[in-house]
Formats: sequence, C-alpha cells, structure tokens
Amino acid sequence: MSDDRVQELRAQIDAVNLQILELLNKRAAIAAEIGKVQMQMGVSFYDPAREAFMLHQLEKHNKGPFSNETIKALFREIFRASMALEEQQAKAKILVQRKSPDQRTVITLPDGTQIGAGDFTIITGPCAVESIEQMEETAAALATRGVKILRGMAYKPRTSPYDFQGMGEQGLQIARQVANKHGMFITSEIMDQSQIPMFMDYVDIFWIGARNMQNSFLLRALGKINKPVILKRGLSATLEEFLYAAEYIVSSGNPNVILIERGIRTFEKWTRNTLDIGGVAVLKLESHLPVVVDISHSAGRRDIAKPLARVAKASGADGLMVEVHPNPPVALSDAKQQLTIPEFHALMDEITDRETAF
Ligand code: PEP
Ligand code: MN
Repeated sequence: MSDDRVQELRAQIDAVNLQILELLNKRAAIAAEIGKVQMQMGVSFYDPAREAFMLHQLEKHNKGPFSNETIKALFREIFRASMALEEQQAKAKILVQRKSPDQRTVITLPDGTQIGAGDFTIITGPCAVESIEQMEETAAALATRGVKILRGMAYKPRTSPYDFQGMGEQGLQIARQVANKHGMFITSEIMDQSQIPMFMDYVDIFWIGARNMQNSFLLRALGKINKPVILKRGLSATLEEFLYAAEYIVSSGNPNVILIERGIRTFEKWTRNTLDIGGVAVLKLESHLPVVVDISHSAGRRDIAKPLARVAKASGADGLMVEVHPNPPVALSDAKQQLTIPEFHALMDEITDRETAF
C-alpha cells in the first residue's frame, strides 16, 4: 500500500472522527435535556430497562465489522458519560453546593458579628436553661471571653419522655433577658413549626436539632423566616442527606444556614457518637455554608474537649459548639459532657494561645 493511500485513508478517519464527535455531543445534549426533565419530575437518571432496550437495538442493527460485544462495551461507555453529565448538571443546581473555591456564605448578626468569614466562632452555653441564676453565671463568664452566641435551650428532645424536657417559653424569657444584659445573641432549638411565631420574639438564631434534621415541613418553614438557622447533622445522616436538609431551607428562601457536625452513630461506645472530622472537611469542600463542630454531643464526655477543640480548629471548620454549666454534676441534662466554667476558660486558652500546637 502506497504512502498516499495511507494518507487518504487517514484523512477519511479524521473526517469520521469529527462526525462521531459531533454526534456524540449531539447525543449528550439530548441526554442532558432528558436529565433536566427527569430532574423536574424527580425521577432517577438511571433506567436499566431503557439501557437494555438501547443495547438490544444496537445489537439488532450491527452489521460489523465490530462484534456485538465490542459495540455494547463502547455504548455502555457512552451511556456512562451521559449519566455523569446529567449528574453534574443536577449537582450544579443544588444551591448549597460550592460552585467555586472562594464561594462562602457569611452570616452577619445585627451587631456585625460574622460567622463563616474566617474567624473561629464559639457557640456555647449550658445544655438547657435551668434557672436565671444558672444562665446568668454562665453568660457572665462566657462574655469575658468575647462569646457572642449563647445557647438558650428551652425545649429538650430527650431520649426518655420521663427526663427533663426543658423549661419551655419561660426558659426562652430567661435566655433573652440574660443575653440582652451581656450583649449576646440567643440560639435555641425549635421542635415544631407551630412554635415559630413565639420563637421569633426571643431567638436570634433558630436551631434544628439532630432528631429533626429531616423534618422537611420544619425545614421549609424556617426557609421562610429572616433569621439564621443552625442545622445539626442527623444521628445517622450521610453528608448528602445533611446537605439536602440544608437545601430545603435555602431553596425555601433563607440562605443563612450554619451546619453543625455533632457526631454520628457507630459501634464505638467510649464516645457518645463518633465525630466525623473527615465529614467536616468534605462539607467545607462541597458546600459554601459555614460548618461548626459540636465537641460536646459528639464526645459525650468532657475529658477530651481540649483535643477535640484543637482538631475542630485544625479541620478548617468555622467554629465550635461546646456546652458549659456552672455545676455540671447537678445539670438536668448531659451532665457528663458539660464543661465547668474553669474548664471552658482552659479550653479557650488552648485554642487561642496555642496557635502553633498543630
Ligand atoms: C443540642 O445540641 O442541644 C442537642 C440536643 O444535640 P443533638 O441535637 O445533636 O443531639
Ligand atoms: Mn446537650
């Protein structure tokens, strides 16, 4: 075969390549269009019956020289690439998904305090409001360390219905009074959307606890208010489920969501939950929302608070959440994990003075 003949055939191949390229992209555009419709319908992109039908059609019409097996392998690759494109498109539509490396949601409180802007935010206070004296003693100590966001928990989702359930509205009143005195903001867990009007009177930042993470009615309702929302990861929620829960709030109109990793259920018993620090790093990568690490409920014990606080800070999280009580042994809930006030001071020293500890 002469060199000219090879050149001529190669030119034909080049032309066919371009035709295939055009057809592949034409096919991809149609598949992407199907993906959009499927997304609106809320159905899965992957349809095994449809794939089997297409492969069967190709087999029926294949005149060679490629074998049916080769054709099927090539087209399976094309199907896979189309699916990846559809999935990428679907992901790009997710509002809480980070679209560029520098995209970040910064939450600004009425006095200009920011969460997610680069500072390490401390959210703290007792597990539950128990009395005005308990809140006052705690808040006074926290205020000396510049804490701005105070836990004012008045409704406690306890495992047993016979355990302390929180002080209710009276607890919110106490929290508000104490926070006002010390120039702090109140965050408090809401149990049900019927409580929203009442909470609006007392609370600066709404809080959805782990047990309510997938309460889509509550999530949607808090998407319609104009105050920030803290959302905790569910007890056994995957990161994807966690971000979809946040998406309920954001897609309903409220962009100001803070995520809290609070440990997940594993077989481990020496900690109350397993702190998923890898998950924190992934959340920071995948989402532009601020991420805070709860070092109290993830551990269930106070003796590892310091290392966990260091880990939280080193993970790239936007802050930490820790429970503090003036007298933990007599606390009405979570007695084992709440820090004493001196322990809290020591923890703050650890993360503020020892920047080079890592
Ligand atoms: C809390 O932080 O007050 C709490 C109840 O934790 P969780 O919802 O993570 O169990
Ligand atoms: Mn608690």
